[in-house]
Amino acid sequence: MLTAVPVQRRRLRVRGTVQGVGFRPFVYRHALALGLSGHVYNDNQGVLVEVEGPAPAVAELCRVVAQAPPPLSRVDAVESTELPPTGRDVGFVIRASAEEGAAAVPVSVDTGTCAECLADIRDPTNRRYRYPFTNCTNCGPRYTIVRSVPYDRPATTMAAFTMCADCQREYDDPADRRFHAQPNACPACGPRLLLWTSAGERLAEGDEALRRATRLLAEGSVVAVKGIGGFHLATDATNEAAVAELRRRKARDEKPFAVMVPDVAAARELCLLDAATEAALVSPRRPIVLAPRRPEAVLATGVAPGLPELGLLLPYSPLHHLLLEGVDRPLVMTSGNRSDEPIAHDDSDAFERLGPLVDALLTHDRAIHIRCDDTVLRRTPARLQLVRRSRGYAPEPLPLLTKARRHVLAVGAELKNTVAVAKDTMVVASHHLGDLEHPATSSAFFQAIHHLCHLYGVTPEVVAHDLHPEYLSTKWALDADLPTLGVQHHHAHVASCLAEHEFAGPVLGVAFDGLGLGLDGTLWGGEFLVADLSRFERVGHLRAVPLPGGAAAIRQPWRMAVAWASQALGADDAALVGADLDDRWPAVLGLVHSGGPHAPLTTSAGRLFDAASALLGVRRTVSYEGQAAIELEALARTIALEEAPDYGPLEVDRSEGQAVLDPGALVARVVEERRRGTAAPVVAAGFHRALGEATADLAASLAEEHGLATVALSGGVFQNARLTQVVEDGLRRRGFAVLVHSAVPPNDGGISIGQAAVAAVGDYEG
Ligand code: ZN
Ligand code: ZN
Ligand code: FE
Repeated sequence: MLTAVPVQRRRLRVRGTVQGVGFRPFVYRHALALGLSGHVYNDNQGVLVEVEGPAPAVAELCRVVAQAPPPLSRVDAVESTELPPTGRDVGFVIRASAEEGAAAVPVSVDTGTCAECLADIRDPTNRRYRYPFTNCTNCGPRYTIVRSVPYDRPATTMAAFTMCADCQREYDDPADRRFHAQPNACPACGPRLLLWTSAGERLAEGDEALRRATRLLAEGSVVAVKGIGGFHLATDATNEAAVAELRRRKARDEKPFAVMVPDVAAARELCLLDAATEAALVSPRRPIVLAPRRPEAVLATGVAPGLPELGLLLPYSPLHHLLLEGVDRPLVMTSGNRSDEPIAHDDSDAFERLGPLVDALLTHDRAIHIRCDDTVLRRTPARLQLVRRSRGYAPEPLPLLTKARRHVLAVGAELKNTVAVAKDTMVVASHHLGDLEHPATSSAFFQAIHHLCHLYGVTPEVVAHDLHPEYLSTKWALDADLPTLGVQHHHAHVASCLAEHEFAGPVLGVAFDGLGLGLDGTLWGGEFLVADLSRFERVGHLRAVPLPGGAAAIRQPWRMAVAWASQALGADDAALVGADLDDRWPAVLGLVHSGGPHAPLTTSAGRLFDAASALLGVRRTVSYEGQAAIELEALARTIALEEAPDYGPLEVDRSEGQAVLDPGALVARVVEERRRGTAAPVVAAGFHRALGEATADLAASLAEEHGLATVALSGGVFQNARLTQVVEDGLRRRGFAVLVHSAVPPNDGGISIGQAAVAAVGDYEG
């Protein structure tokens, strides 16, 4: 007999995202297959494995753990220690966790269908053939179905379904892919589909519902489809009439629709994709990715009117896969809501709000506990940037650079609201909640606060909030009967950028956004701050101009055009400009000159972009926030950076102590070029270049004056890829390190993360 193979025993300490992702059964299966004995368990540092057996088999297990771990896990480190063999193990076992309740990551994110489950639903001999709720340890809903912790079936919306004997056997078998897969289900025991008319009449159920919904979509109907985190409105994205009808029903809304394609090959036909973009699309997180559209892409014009980018996503539930395969065309999959309302996620709400918009509703009887919109990533020339961080990302913790001094709850801003909690060395942001102005959003806001605190065991010792007294989030914080910390809006933006880069600062922070309340009671939005996580000083800003009509100016960029024209050109020229824009210009000019409460001062960079967009005839009114600037950027990007005209440096006024950057001459130049008949894309490119270079110049000199080597760019305006590129290039050329957002949204969706970082790490007295 050959006895030359030595026996070895090793302990593997595995660190990273290794809990709640099927790691223990994964180790178990491989150990069994390799004939190893020993055990595996979770503890508060990750996963601990001890194995014993022939040395090559032990080595192979080490290799698999380090190099081919389960798809949802992320192994940061494997420390391997050799131990003396004991010979006492009986087989390989999964041990109960050392501290099951204290896991750092109590719930994983919702995850797209894995390849093995996909094979199951495509195999006519499989009992899950065409079953839309198929999932396993490696895939399926998580966060959206969890009511409580510890994450176990009774704590999820799957509690209503009792597993059949076959499902139970899989669930109990450590060697099975569905071992302890909490949403495990099959056609015999799990959720089922239901198809309804918009009047609430049941048309079909089960596979028949799926087949009829597929047929309706193929014929050009609009169908509300209940997914993982809420309802989508679906229709054939290649059908002009169907898309136009959907737009008509979602009245007033010009937001681009996301398009779901069956696979990456189909995505390539519509957009120009590089390897990183493709990797993001196929990742189990399954975000929407905004990518440059191919000129020859065949889609209905109403999908993303006038925009050079398309939002693409791949199917992420078995239901999506089955629908896409059945219809065999790209589908519009847009959030199930009307303009600005939260996405519908429960059935009665869907009937009430979506009924009038659709021809049929495809629902199911598994409840969605947490409404969770699709995440949106944007492919810019420099990076993939999160624009909306939600399904597939929330509630995954982000690391804090140092240990939190206290348990923190941060309640965010008003628009694109998220909330966040911080404790130990992590900050956890909620899914995207939406605009708190909307009543349905406010209930989601309360739910998210309680849910996050409960899931992560956070007992807030301080509530961080915005300074704006009218935000619902601020009101809630001040009512909460807990110590509070007001964090200025733009400080929170810069802090969110510091938190993302795990950088303590100080930095020179440039915060360009729509509007946020400043310390002096005016509306800030074009700010240069010296900031760290404890404090900030405003050292510069854009010149302040009136915001004529307050909120009305946000919806009507032409008002900002009149305000800026008046500042840059004087009243007579502003009248000429105004007459070109809107009949109501005299009233607006009156407001601008009144200096009264209906024309508060603002230094907003976002509103400056609005003004330029209106002056160039791109957008006089908008149907969603940021539309004017998005379309202006799109025009500018048709001109290569090197081809953009040079509209010269901008003036900086330092007479009042702070550096005031004055874009007045640039606004005047835009008006002049427009009169001269220069093509709008050229002027748009010149505007981006001049503002970007002036911003970089001022940021660089302010940073130098304060002895800072790093500049952080934050705020919704830095979703503008062209502006970011000009500013970033300008700063890097001068040798500065530049922090730009990628994993945290630059817009107000990131505010709660910045607030949480300030409250958790900052050394304020409290
Ligand atoms: Zn699976
Ligand atoms: Zn079953
Ligand atoms: Fe903001």
